[in-house]
Parts: sequence; structure tokens; C-alpha cells
Amino acid sequence: MGKLYLVPTPIGNLKDMTFRAVEVLQQVDLILAEDTRTSGKLLKHFDITTQMHSHHMHNEHKTTEGIVKRIQAGETIALISDAGTPAISDPGFLLTRACVEAGIEVDCLPGPTAFVPALVNSGLPNDRFVFEGFLPVKKGRQTRLQLLAKETRTMIFYESPHKLLKTLAQFVEFFGEDRSISVSRELSKLHEETIRGTISEVLAHFTTKPPKGEIVVVLAGKKQ
Ligand code: SAM
Repeated sequence: MGKLYLVPTPIGNLKDMTFRAVEVLQQVDLILAEDTRTSGKLLKHFDITTQMHSHHMHNEHKTTEGIVKRIQAGETIALISDAGTPAISDPGFLLTRACVEAGIEVDCLPGPTAFVPALVNSGLPNDRFVFEGFLPVKKGRQTRLQLLAKETRTMIFYESPHKLLKTLAQFVEFFGEDRSISVSRELSKLHEETIRGTISEVLAHFTTKPPKGEIVVVLAGKKQ
């Protein structure tokens, strides 16, 4: 029986690749990558020549069974995503669950993910928190926000720059303009910044300075 590795990759800064991530990717029989072109550049940078297959949200339902069989037959396989930790708002859950159900050993290496530095940088309570990932775009969005209006733990959201202003305006509606919020942009990259304040202050900031790049929003929970 082989093994499944989930290997985190940098979210912007190549220096965040761990020694163990490089070693595992060099040693496995096969790397499954979300986008083989994106990951090809990363593998080249670290002189990793392991064979790569594509594994993404559009084919993971079809390929999972075949991958489980290959691991059962003795292959060791690593899953990577375009950036950060696989299965965190990325493909990986289906394969992990299938491997666990088949009694295959699964090993997720510790490594880069965007939500942890955003949460810690926010200065908001982090002893208890809830990861919400991307909010539903249309169906179910209002219901989710209504549920979250009662949430007392700090909440973490992934967001795209062109939807940030709309989301912040909706946050004013559901959480009130004075709730504390922190928006981290381009973590680990050249133009990294974290803007903290009340929802209305942060909305005003990004209204005058339209957001660019990748974004994590961290929102304080309801006061008890
Ligand atoms: N698997 C990744 C992880 O472990 O964080 C998340 C992948 S998800 C498809 C991409 C989202 O993660 C982006 O839209 C953004 O919300 C967040 N993200 C990824 N890299 C980031 C960065 N360098 N700075 C801020 N947010 C980032």
C-alpha cells in the first residue's frame, strides 16, 4: 500500500516552500496538480522532475477512484494546488475522504495557507474562529449572512478584489458599520498590506483605493 501526501505550496513567496515539501515532491511516484502549467513553474524552480497529472474540481469526481486504486497498488502520490494548502478552498477533500475510507494513510504536511497569517495579522481574537472560505455568490448568500450575524467567533472569508466592495457594503447591512474588520491583501508578496478598522472605515478606504490582488477578510464576532 502506498500513501497520499497533501503538500502545501507558497501563496506568493517562493521562499515559503518547506524543505520537506521539496523532498516529498521529489520522492513520490506522481504529483497531482490543479493546474499543471502553474505548478510546472514551481517544480522547475525547485528542480523537481516527478511526473505530474492534472487533478481539479472538474475532473476530481471521475479520477478519484483510479487514484485510490493506484495507491492501493503501491504508489505514493502527492496532491498540490495552485497555492497554499490543498483542500482549503481548493480540490483535495474528495480524494482525502476516499483514501481515508479505503484505509490509505494520508499525510498533510504543515505549510503555507492564506487564512492563518490573515487571522493572526488582524489582531482580532483568534482563540476561537470560524473559516467560511468563499461566501456563496448568489443562492444561499443571504441565508449564510443571516446565520453569521449571530456568530460570536471571529470569521474568516476568502474574497476576490472585484467583489470586495459589494461584500463590505453587505457586511454593514448584516453586522453593523461599527464591527471591527481586517482585510489582508497579497500576503507574503511585494505589495502585502493589512487594513484594519470598522467595516465602514475599511469600506471607505477601499472605495477611494480600489482593491487589487488576493484578499482575506477577517471579521470580529458578535459581542456577547
Ligand atoms: N488553498 C489556498 C490556501 O490554503 O489558502 C486557498 C486557495 S483559494 C482558491 C484562493 C483564495 O485564497 C484567494 O482568492 C484569496 O482569498 C486567498 N489567498 C490566496 N493567496 C493569498 C495571498 N497571498 N494573500 C491573500 N489572500 C490569498
